[in-house]
Amino acid sequence: MKLLDGKVCADSLVADISRRVAGYVDSGLRKPHMTVILVGEHAPSESYVKSKIKSCENAGFESALLRFPESVTETELLEKIAAINADHATDGLIVQLPVPNHINSQNIINAIDPEKDIDGFHPTNFGRMTLGQKAFRPATAYGICKLLQFYEIPVKAKHCVVIGRSNIVGKPISIMLSNDFEIGNATVTLTHIETPRELLLDETRRADIIIVAVGIPGFVTEDMIKDGVVMIDVGINRLQTGKLVGDVDFENVSKKCSWITPVPGGVGRMTVAALMINTLMAYQNNFDLA
Ligand code: NAP
Repeated sequence: MKLLDGKVCADSLVADISRRVAGYVDSGLRKPHMTVILVGEHAPSESYVKSKIKSCENAGFESALLRFPESVTETELLEKIAAINADHATDGLIVQLPVPNHINSQNIINAIDPEKDIDGFHPTNFGRMTLGQKAFRPATAYGICKLLQFYEIPVKAKHCVVIGRSNIVGKPISIMLSNDFEIGNATVTLTHIETPRELLLDETRRADIIIVAVGIPGFVTEDMIKDGVVMIDVGINRLQTGKLVGDVDFENVSKKCSWITPVPGGVGRMTVAALMINTLMAYQNNFDLA
């Protein structure tokens, strides 16, 4: 078993971005700029936002964190997003999800200018990505593709099973791996909560690559997989002991895998790296750079 080390891959990608940014700045351009909106106090979101801001520093980007209280209204948030959309000094905008229940998250996503939508959640980007057109690709799914590419994991013509169909992970990665992208052309099965257990097991036991994003600790067990599978664990679950674990029973499953992502230090790191790639692309679009 070998580790698909998200830290090693992300550090390499961010170092490359930082070299490019240094070149742009040397030629007289301003730095790329990411703005993050954070609503309320949500411990995991605080930690995700912190790592995004830190990664901006490493990539040579400017960043701004705009905090709003839990009580902020949807209208106030939409007004702020409209102002940032109109601001040419911001290349990329993220509204950290989840937002409080009184705010409709889809309305928020839809309000972000697709040209600044570095999370890749706006219907325009999601649609373009689905059609195989140039787009900001959803960051976690894009990060997984970059990780597979970095470790030269064969994907073309492989049988890939995705467990979980969320709009931010399962659905986009199933589309991206089945598309004719630089990493893709796999035969993909997307499973979800209505997939009968027997069917799920049929699929996972003959899968070459499994991507699991369900948010259930230990969901994938050793009896569900074949020897040599590539396992991508997207889950981030905090146990009562405080330990962070994924959706895979790592100790037992890893023994049967050819490659596996650790949690932490796997897909999470790649999500942030993919955001940096998207922000650089937004900046390059903004300045008509190649
Ligand atoms: P989500 O929105 O809660 O979606 C979970 C998906 O799993 C749903 O599609 C659900 O099906 C499906 N599911 C639930 N139980 C299932 C079962 N027994 N069999 C098959 N499918 C089942 O979660 P998410 O946002 O995708 O996140 C999933 C996990 O990944 C969480 O632990 C989250 O913290 C983590 N995450 C990590 C990153 C990262 O950067 N590493 C990024 C995002 C999320 P239904 O649609 O039918 O309900």
